[in-house]
Amino acid sequence: MTENQRNLILRLRKDGEGYKTIANTVGLSRDRVRSFCKSKNIAGFGAAATLNIEEQATDGSICPNCYAPIVQSTKGRRKKFCSEKCRREW
Ligand SMILES: [Zn+2]
Repeated sequence: MTENQRNLILRLRKDGEGYKTIANTVGLSRDRVRSFCKSKNIAGFGAAATLNIEEQATDGSICPNCYAPIVQSTKGRRKKFCSEKCRREW
C-alpha cells in the first residue's frame, strides 16, 4: 500500500464511504481496506469513524490535513499538524 492509497482511504473514510467504495477507488481489496481501517482505529460505520478521526485530530494525535500520526514532543507547544507543509495546506 502506498502513502497515497493510505491517505485516500483515510479521506474517503472520513467522508463516510464504505469499504467497498473505498476499495474500488484505491484499487485494493475490501479486506485490505478493512484491516487497514481497523489498524487505524477507524473501522465501523462512517459517522463513528469520522468522529474518531475528528477526536484524534482535535487532541493532537493525528494531523487534520493528511491524518498522519503526530509525534508530540514533551516540551513546548503541542503541534497541530505533522509538518509545515500540511499547516500551510490547511
Ligand atoms: Zn499532515
